[in-house]
Amino acid sequence: MSVWFRRGGFRLLPAAAGALLFSFTAAAAEMAKRTSAGKPPALAEAKAFVEEAEARILKLGEAANRAGWVQSTYITQDTEILAAKANEELINAGVEYAKKATRYDRLKLPPDLARKMRLLKLGLTLAAPANPKESEELTRIAASLESAYGKGKYCPEGKEKCLDIGEITKIMAESRDPNELLDVWQGWHTVSPPMRPEYERFVALANKGARELGFADTGAMWRSKYDLPPGDFTKEVDRLWEQVKPLYLSLHTYVRGRLREKYGDAVPERGPIPAHLLGNIWAQDWSNVYDLVAPKEADPGYDLTQILKAKKIDEKEMVRYGERFFVSLGFDPLPKTFWERSLFTKPRDRDVVCHASAWDVDNVADLRIKMCIDITAEDFTTIHHELGHNIYQRAYNTRPVLFRDSANDGFHEAVGDTIALSITPEYLVEVGLLEKAPDPSKDIGLLLSSALDKVAFLPFGLLIDQWRWKVFSGEVTPGNYNQAWWELRREYQGVAPQEPRGESFFDPGAKYHVPANVPYTRYFLARILQFQFHRALASTAGCAGPLHRCSIYADKEAGKKLDAMLRLGISRPWPDALEALSGQRQMDATAILDYFAPLQKWLDEQNKGTPAGW
Ligand SMILES: [Zn+2]
Repeated sequence: MSVWFRRGGFRLLPAAAGALLFSFTAAAAEMAKRTSAGKPPALAEAKAFVEEAEARILKLGEAANRAGWVQSTYITQDTEILAAKANEELINAGVEYAKKATRYDRLKLPPDLARKMRLLKLGLTLAAPANPKESEELTRIAASLESAYGKGKYCPEGKEKCLDIGEITKIMAESRDPNELLDVWQGWHTVSPPMRPEYERFVALANKGARELGFADTGAMWRSKYDLPPGDFTKEVDRLWEQVKPLYLSLHTYVRGRLREKYGDAVPERGPIPAHLLGNIWAQDWSNVYDLVAPKEADPGYDLTQILKAKKIDEKEMVRYGERFFVSLGFDPLPKTFWERSLFTKPRDRDVVCHASAWDVDNVADLRIKMCIDITAEDFTTIHHELGHNIYQRAYNTRPVLFRDSANDGFHEAVGDTIALSITPEYLVEVGLLEKAPDPSKDIGLLLSSALDKVAFLPFGLLIDQWRWKVFSGEVTPGNYNQAWWELRREYQGVAPQEPRGESFFDPGAKYHVPANVPYTRYFLARILQFQFHRALASTAGCAGPLHRCSIYADKEAGKKLDAMLRLGISRPWPDALEALSGQRQMDATAILDYFAPLQKWLDEQNKGTPAGW
């Protein structure tokens, strides 16, 4: 339902480009060296440098977005090449400016300029070393790792057909045969062992590049993006996890009990849950086992998909519902061009990337969504989520170019999800889609199904970077890559492999974001923040009911608070943005606990007498 990685999308800087096919050219390295060898720079030079960077990034960003849009909505070999080329130019420029920005490290700058200089340096998720040979090697490895994942297939013995990630995902979601599940789970994990030697080299070279930019290692570089010293950020993430742990534990205990009823002793009474039985290759989203764990009385009593179909609501009208949500909060309607240029339906005559995404093509006002809309409840929610991105993009578009981004990388996804949390039965009644909201006694099913997605994900969202931070810092060495991975999965998620997984495996590589080098903590933060935003806005809107029944629809005061945060973009440290919306300067996971409080109470009743933990 939520968008995990977008192509082109909303960001100007290469950080979110996902693929990292940049090369820091020898010429650029030379240039950086020469300028830094000269006399110390003056303030005027620093200003001119940033102005030039902003103008060029805006121009290259627009070109990359246009090429990316065409590529995503008209897939051919040529549009793919054109998009890759435009992206590469943007990324190269980002790398060049990040390196050059170090020239002004010792200069005392006014706050805005200093922030822009920092953002230029922090835009990278991968810094290539200045040595051209090493830079080229790193670029090659980065591309090779990502493509190894992309080409990954499991070819079962004795069968003609190989399974790709899409087919494996489907089996993991739908099969209830533990042998088949284990087989495809193990099968997918054969994709990654060949990545291991390359990944090891990748870590060494990436760290070298990060050190040249003044960071202790690549993990420290990632953590520096959060306006806190890298060590403090690690503690902050731990603190949030400690807050939500009791809720996760209740969910884990309950689900383990139900799976034990289904699969017998394969699921231990006290130990971790076998990683292949949770409906997802990484056990990061348990929604697919909902039918195995749902209580009998879980039916909410209405089916939004059926309602939308019965009312003959078409794709465009679905989007109009989303737009009216934002207008009800006091935001302007979407521009005329949004309706002319967006893609709402899957074309019959060509291939498109159907994965939903929100775009601001010129990084000013050319807002669009790209989505192959089905008339379903799920897509109704996704539309509200995507338009949340568009509204954010438009709110910060008057800021200087380098400030046109979300307050930190968790915020963009969190805003879209916050809006989606307001799609309550009461909201559906207000917009005329439902006659009467069901009795709250029906809520356990809705809450449980949401928790299998949002709560089950939390420890996974956290541990990917726990592992990588340790790998980049050298605390985890190539000799114990896999051991450390499974220790973390056991510690945080309470899951374990069916059989021991020694160092001949490289299981972290079987998750896209590791070979593709996409930081992951943002997804954890987005899950925490969306409930914090929702609770604050619901309170502004004067909602007294249980949090999961609060909608901020049509509340102008809540709209104003939301707008105040969105407008800031990344011009100020994220605690300022958080405060503008919520009055709090710290991230706070108690909101997710409040939201799921009725569920936790119910879970704990069901769990009575059952051992918890592992
Ligand atoms: Zn999204």
